Amino acid sequence: MPEPPGSPLAARDRGLVWHPYAPLDGPEPYAVEGASGVRLSLRAPDGTRHEAVDAMASWWCAVHGYRNPALDSAAHEQLDRFSHVMFGGLTHEPAVSLAERLTAIAPGPMTHVFFADSGSVSVEVALKLSLQYQAARGRPGRQRFLTVRGGYHGDTFAAMSVCDPVDGMHSAFPGALARQVFAPRPPAARLITTPDCEQRWETDVLELQPWAAEVRSLAETHRDELAAVVVEPVLQGAGGMHVYPPECLRVLRDVADEHELLLVVDEIATGFGRTGRLFASEWADVAPDVMCIGKALTGGYLSLAAVLTTRHVGDAITRSQFRALLHGPTFMANPLACAVANASLELVEGSWKGDAPRVGRLLTEHLAPAGGLACVTDIRVLGAVGVVQLACPVDVGRVTRAALRRGVWVRPFRDLVYTMPPYVCTDDDVRLIADGIVGAVSEVHG
Ligand SMILES: *Cc1c(COP(=O)(O)O)cnc(C)c1O
Repeated sequence: MPEPPGSPLAARDRGLVWHPYAPLDGPEPYAVEGASGVRLSLRAPDGTRHEAVDAMASWWCAVHGYRNPALDSAAHEQLDRFSHVMFGGLTHEPAVSLAERLTAIAPGPMTHVFFADSGSVSVEVALKLSLQYQAARGRPGRQRFLTVRGGYHGDTFAAMSVCDPVDGMHSAFPGALARQVFAPRPPAARLITTPDCEQRWETDVLELQPWAAEVRSLAETHRDELAAVVVEPVLQGAGGMHVYPPECLRVLRDVADEHELLLVVDEIATGFGRTGRLFASEWADVAPDVMCIGKALTGGYLSLAAVLTTRHVGDAITRSQFRALLHGPTFMANPLACAVANASLELVEGSWKGDAPRVGRLLTEHLAPAGGLACVTDIRVLGAVGVVQLACPVDVGRVTRAALRRGVWVRPFRDLVYTMPPYVCTDDDVRLIADGIVGAVSEVHG
């Protein structure tokens, strides 16, 4: 008997559960019936089934693909010991091992780790930490943050306050967000890929001077109010997939030093090799004071994030009135998540150096034909991230369907169709993704 049309699951979902930034009566979602390797088995709202390569790696997370044997067995082994215990007064091997690993690979000397349960919460903790640090140094009046326009740092209140004030959510919550200091968005980078597949930045330092001057003058004006500089290093993600020159990050480091501000880098999207360096801050040879990580930390298996900081900052907190960093989530350092993160880091360390440039080279080559389309204004690739920018907002529904017919799952936003493939994609998978994006954009937007 033929199956009735429509997906029963999607119909039950609609109007019942909210999806990210989507109305309750929005389009029906695709149902995931399975996920293995880099492929999702999807059931479309009209009932049709699709096998699609996940070009989004589940929003930067699933770098080793789905049902990865090493991650599966790390999860199973920890499940057979214990899944969760409180972290107050208790500790466990997965958390300590993970903290040791993270401090060993972090850019610059990082000596302390705070485990949080999501990226946004880690940003909250980093901001709180900055205020506590300044208070501990006798400057309790320093309670604001300097950041750049175009950023995205999460959806909780303090994190929202440092998101882009126009494209972020500021207009939805007037009066409820702390008022931060916004420098202009750093100018766009020009990247060239050398014949030996290294990516090189072509930066005209003169071009950066007006931007740097404005940052310096804002920091000067607000120096007694500012606790820290907060920024996504080199690649702004959800705020527009904007790539900017490493020199700008160095300027922010200098400005932070001049005014005794902490430099907080949000590596939640960029960490673990995605940009072609283990951490994007390394493109600028910048050692941050505070670093937030999340997303790919557990290879996409479980929600886990962390804040890393230096001995200098840790010591200041310990000597302060409260002595502790004033935060403590219920699911702090969840053992299952930490065990999977340890396994994921082992895979990352073995693979990112080869995979990120390989994926990037294939994306560069196979997204290039999009340059011939009238609707396309820019194509950029940094590490294993590929972006096609259009002259108009993407018709998300139609581009999604057109890509699915080509075997690719994408989730465009604004004027951007982009991909950050799982590192375990074969060359053919990456070609399929790039061809699928070019084909879908061409079909829908010509
Ligand atoms: C996704 C993201 C966050 C928020 O992380 P969640 O886990 O969604 O709370 C913060 N900063 C950056 C740069 C991100 O990409």
